[in-house]
Amino acid sequence: MNKVFEWFVICSFKACMMKQRIHTTTCFLSVLFSLLIPFHASAQKGADEIYKEIKKLGVLANVLYVAAHPDDENTRMISYLSNHVYANTTYLSMTRGDGGQNLIGHEFREMLGIIRSHELLEARKIDGGYQLFTRANDFGYSKTARETFSIWDKDQVLSDVVWAIRKTKPDVIINRFPADTNFQNHGHHTASAILSQAAFDLANDPKAYPEQLKYTQPWQPHRQFFNTTWWFYGSREAFDAADKSKLLSLDLGEYDPMTGESNNEIAGRSRSMHKSQGFGAPEVRGESFDYLDLLNDVDNKMPASIFDDIDITWNRVPGGKAIGTKVSQLDASFDFRSPKSSLPQLIDIYQSIEKLPGSYWRTVKLRECEEIIKDCLGLFIEARTTSVNVSPETSMPVTLEIINRSDVEASLMNMIPSNMDTMFSYEVPLDNNKVVTKEFRYRVPGHLSIPYWLEKQPTTGMYVVDDQQKIGQPADDPAMQVVVKVKIKELLLDFDIPVIYKTVDPAEGEIIKPVYITPPVTAEVESEALVFNESQARVIPLVLKAMTDSISGSLRLKIDKPGWTVTPEKMDFVFQKSGETSTIPCTITPPENQTRAMLMPSIEVGGLTYHHKITTLDYDHLPYMSIVKDASTPVQSMDIKITNRSIAYIDGAGDDVAASLRQIGYDVEMLDPSTLTADILSHYQVIILGVRAFNTVEALSHKNTLLFDWVKKGGTLITQYNVNRGLVTQDIAPYPLTISRDRVTEENSPVTILQPDHPAMTTPNKITSADFDGWVQERGLYFSNAWDDHFIPLLEMHDTKENPMKGSLLVAPYGNGYYVYSGLSWFRHLPAGDPGPYRILSNIISLGYKNNKS
Ligand SMILES: [Zn+2]
Repeated sequence: MNKVFEWFVICSFKACMMKQRIHTTTCFLSVLFSLLIPFHASAQKGADEIYKEIKKLGVLANVLYVAAHPDDENTRMISYLSNHVYANTTYLSMTRGDGGQNLIGHEFREMLGIIRSHELLEARKIDGGYQLFTRANDFGYSKTARETFSIWDKDQVLSDVVWAIRKTKPDVIINRFPADTNFQNHGHHTASAILSQAAFDLANDPKAYPEQLKYTQPWQPHRQFFNTTWWFYGSREAFDAADKSKLLSLDLGEYDPMTGESNNEIAGRSRSMHKSQGFGAPEVRGESFDYLDLLNDVDNKMPASIFDDIDITWNRVPGGKAIGTKVSQLDASFDFRSPKSSLPQLIDIYQSIEKLPGSYWRTVKLRECEEIIKDCLGLFIEARTTSVNVSPETSMPVTLEIINRSDVEASLMNMIPSNMDTMFSYEVPLDNNKVVTKEFRYRVPGHLSIPYWLEKQPTTGMYVVDDQQKIGQPADDPAMQVVVKVKIKELLLDFDIPVIYKTVDPAEGEIIKPVYITPPVTAEVESEALVFNESQARVIPLVLKAMTDSISGSLRLKIDKPGWTVTPEKMDFVFQKSGETSTIPCTITPPENQTRAMLMPSIEVGGLTYHHKITTLDYDHLPYMSIVKDASTPVQSMDIKITNRSIAYIDGAGDDVAASLRQIGYDVEMLDPSTLTADILSHYQVIILGVRAFNTVEALSHKNTLLFDWVKKGGTLITQYNVNRGLVTQDIAPYPLTISRDRVTEENSPVTILQPDHPAMTTPNKITSADFDGWVQERGLYFSNAWDDHFIPLLEMHDTKENPMKGSLLVAPYGNGYYVYSGLSWFRHLPAGDPGPYRILSNIISLGYKNNKS
């Protein structure tokens, strides 16, 4: 095995285990999937790609690859099966990876799940695979499958795996992980294998999930493997020594002279799409073996190869044999200098497939054939409008552009916008290399571009999707699309074309964006949750933004629980231009008791009511996205005593802790770590390091001693969690301190206060067990597991059936000051408005307060 490659395997698995939480044009794919057809739409193809499409036309094989998260999938295997075997290969990821950390931006939870979903789609565009999900929510790390199933709705996720099998009809299922619950692995990983094995037995049973059979048929996969690797054997040596006679080996390092690329080079580029997880991967060359361990075979025998005994030719389709022969002849006679010369054969093949009785393969192969015909003509079809964000129920100008770049006889017949009953008839000839454009107005649908799995409030473990046909789809269908009918010789073909927005940037050139249906006016407050302390009223800026020109209407504000007031309750607005904003100062007064409520803005425009905000995702490796979300924001009143201290924050990987502290009345300045001097530090009494600062801030490799000296003189230094791998310095504390992967993932797990009289537990807020109620997602992560005697552990906690851990919150007096290491997930708890974590952190900020005064 190649060394670099091995490293890459270890990293990917370890990362998934270790990060444990670190864990889209685009939509066209999902449209086609909704028709039960795996299909890749893409730009125009050249002769070598057309030839590969012809190869694929002759192969009738399906594979389903099953794992738990974005990044679990073996892109070498997916690319090999797609590009060398020409099998339709689908990656079924149980989750969208919402529970991870984001290495490229500030998005997390649902927004991160959207980023990861699209990273997978981009990866599949490179490796040729298809993408599916279940409704399972990546709620964060879990240590066992049992814990996972206590949070996921096991039966629902199983039904989604069965659904994926029935839709993609795999001959072979490959699991990334073992189902062995004794093997220590992320609970989601083990769960994915358990569900995949259960679904293998169920998918062909019409009594299982009969509601699905309205849309698809039962299906029995032929066999199932576990894609093993040395990592599951504990070490490379153990794997080398292991008996592999029962394993199938595959050399995935195959070189393709037509594209000039080895399979693992494609796999490396595909894997490098997982940018939010920092998984840029090498593009490896040379032989590379992967192993498949047989789990199930309908004939109960050990196959000699992955598709042994499975007919993956046209012979598997009744009446298909002659088509197979025709495809072979097409393959043999294909002229790379003139793809259009294949057209008579392609039309003959298309018509032969059309005559077959209705079946899965008939539908799939007609689509494939249609695409090859289009590519052989150099037929380009585009529909574009003038704006990325369009308002519901409005009319948008659309330009249809179509060009046939061959001398093959073709005509544009008609076009039907998906949301309209109207058909635009044209019947114009498409002469060789002559652009034809048609203008028309498109009636925009009434629904907003809210990702379908986020339309209903998700539970901790599951997304709520009622429409069976949407379940599993990686992304939404294009907001606007048209069906264009083209006549090629005697053949009438329909092409589904998404409506896009296109512009030319002087630096970047052509920029294409999908179109989104967004409310005409949005409302947004800056924070995820608004926190109020000691009954203090606050003025919150609420930003109204016009998404379209010349718009007027009214805004109403209300809070859904008694005791809260918000003013103004109602106001009118007028905007001239799209993009214009207006900041409205809203005064919110909380009640005296500690309660949680929702601030609900509602915007009325032209008789329609909206209550939404928009988040824009604009990453180079992903399609541009306008995500519409509910603008309701939680408001939380608290009773937290704070001390008047000068606080500075040094950002790490990025978090909203500083902004959260400002909400409850602290003054927090941001400090640039590269310019730190003893003099600058002397202006502050408390310094807080952002999450993973010792992983991400290079300057801390040498500014650490300056910080420790400042602590010695009386400062309080609060270090939030860091991961133990890739620290810029091992000296993260003035005394020895080791970071482990220990974490407590059950947010309701019992907590023992070890030092009830320690000032961090008493002053100025008395910490009690009630302060540990209602936390979101988890307790904390990357606890310390070994520390110098100077450290005092303050809390003890553990997940079910685990040993108590004391390394979540450690305080060490150092000189006249304090050093604190905290694995508690303040970066999640504070923005979510959990009162307990605010109280604990306030006490820690107060450490040494009296000293400073005296
Ligand atoms: Zn994983």
